[in-house]
Amino acid sequence: METKIVTVQDAALGENILVEAGEILRKGGLVAFPTETVYGLGGDALNPESSKKIYAAKGRPSDNPLIVHICCMEDLQKIAVEIPKEAYALAEAFWPGPMTMVLKKSPLVPYETTGGLDTVAVRMPNHPVALALIEKSGGFIAAPSANTSGRPSPTSAKYVEEDLYGRIEMIIDGGFVGIGLESTIVDVTVTPPQILRPGYVTERMLQQVCGQVAWDEAIVHVESGKAPRAPGMKYRHYAPKGELVVVRGENKRVVDYINQCTDAAESAGERTGVIATRENASLYHAKVVHVAGAAGDEEEIARNLYDILRRFDEEGVTRIYSEEFSSDGLGQAIMNRLLKAAGQRIVDLSEKSS
Ligand code: AMP
Ligand code: MG
Repeated sequence: METKIVTVQDAALGENILVEAGEILRKGGLVAFPTETVYGLGGDALNPESSKKIYAAKGRPSDNPLIVHICCMEDLQKIAVEIPKEAYALAEAFWPGPMTMVLKKSPLVPYETTGGLDTVAVRMPNHPVALALIEKSGGFIAAPSANTSGRPSPTSAKYVEEDLYGRIEMIIDGGFVGIGLESTIVDVTVTPPQILRPGYVTERMLQQVCGQVAWDEAIVHVESGKAPRAPGMKYRHYAPKGELVVVRGENKRVVDYINQCTDAAESAGERTGVIATRENASLYHAKVVHVAGAAGDEEEIARNLYDILRRFDEEGVTRIYSEEFSSDGLGQAIMNRLLKAAGQRIVDLSEKSS
């Protein structure tokens, strides 16, 4: 299949292209598009054949449900039933935006879209191109991240092209995304609402709207081996091709330890890389050092993380070490993704020193 690649920076100027993309979706085809979190791979959420095509194009396991994207509040009642009042409060506070709610599904949503579940995950993205496309496609776009299953989610159209060229009808290039990590997923079918995946909308922000919020135990205690309630969270994800290890501890010890490891690995013929804070970057010996952001600047680190993981692949890096970043606020999502990418491998120097 020939994939058409188009650039739309502005929804109004790109109107004709978005009409064409909407037509592709209405006919059951697939279109990748920018959102404020990461690029999405879109298909008509109400068409079971479209959802099957999404799974096939990504190589995604079919028990891993898709998020349905809407562009107006009235459409929520068409795909969800028994919507609790917390859901309206959360939508009011965070939509359009990087927050996904799990609700009971209506009969309109096929099981192919929900991975066989009776619930549906819904989000209204905060991106003018995405909102216009949803509207032109009929109102309901099922869209997981537009990467091959297991790889880091794409933060720019060139990464979508790398993974999906020839497998989908169209890629809409809207430039670099703003946030860089996937949405926060909140299950509002339970009381109190439960965080199934941390994201840009933090626990504290949710608490300000709902009062109490809980966490899916399986996310907090990964070592418990419990199955996460968001099926996608059980898969290895975001992983670069090289082996990644996160190092925790006091700053100087971390830098020294990483330098010892990369020196030894280089001597053994490996190509090494480091994910560093800007403050520490010049201290490392590794062949490739990527700056995630200034220490404590979670927004910058979130925006750069997946891009860095992909760049290590392009640069042929076989062994990667990362500093641990703050795990407060947005840091919860950053560390969740980083540790997943590392297959939970963490070297804890702080324990050894105590
Ligand atoms: P992605 O769109 O690639 O970020 O993946 C969507 C995430 O949402 C995956 O982790 C899914 O398992 C999760 N998800 C989607 N629908 C549901 C649902 N009905 N219940 C729980 N998790 C869901
Ligand atoms: Mg994904």
